[in-house]
Amino acid sequence: MPGLARFNRVRAIASLLYPPVCAICSTDVAAGEYLCQECEEKIAHIVPPFCGKCSEPFEGAITGPFNCANCAHRTLHFEAAVAAYRSRGIVRRIILDFKYGRQVHLRHLVARWLLAALDDSRLRDREFDLIVPVPLHRARERERGFNQAGLLAELLSRRMPVRANPVLERTRYTTTQTAFDRAERMENLRGAFRVRRNADVRELRVLLIDDVLTTGSTLSECARVLKKAGAHSVHAATAARG
Ligand SMILES: [Zn+2]
Ligand SMILES: [Zn+2]
Repeated sequence: MPGLARFNRVRAIASLLYPPVCAICSTDVAAGEYLCQECEEKIAHIVPPFCGKCSEPFEGAITGPFNCANCAHRTLHFEAAVAAYRSRGIVRRIILDFKYGRQVHLRHLVARWLLAALDDSRLRDREFDLIVPVPLHRARERERGFNQAGLLAELLSRRMPVRANPVLERTRYTTTQTAFDRAERMENLRGAFRVRRNADVRELRVLLIDDVLTTGSTLSECARVLKKAGAHSVHAATAARG
């Protein structure tokens, strides 16, 4: 039996033994689903108006494109960072379970959220040459067993005619960013990434992938390094945004 057919057969048998349940509330769900209707409806979508550069939603009435105050006062090296969902409640919990709870199967659900970002007007009609995951430091990847952004980039490249390649590496094991202000965060990240030896990104239109956008500093630093190595453009997509 070919590999995929065998895999599907095994999965069909497994779903008889372990019927799929909602990852949040354990209600029965249809095969291939991860959330029940009720939990699905609690997910916070990012709706306009939001910042054209970093997707930060804005409460109030603004029509037409605008950039948030955060983006207006700093240099961000990506063209735009796009997310379709807020990293709150159910979305946040699923991503934490995926990353730290060893529930690697949840990557399929997280990848769907990432795909929703690609449907945004800033990305929809754009062509890309390469999908690049934000790297983890080798020590951290070993500890976790995988790089969540790498798994998402792989799933994405199966859905797009674009190859994924982890051309970036993280050379410094940076401490947690949360205690820093914005300037300190950028400083802390300086020199933390580099393009791997033998990787060639010259003239490539890059789609940079991560699970969550928090401040945009990491994506910006990765974009800076890619562009310094000759990348033509860097757009970022994440499954959710803080
Ligand atoms: Zn549920
Ligand atoms: Zn912004």
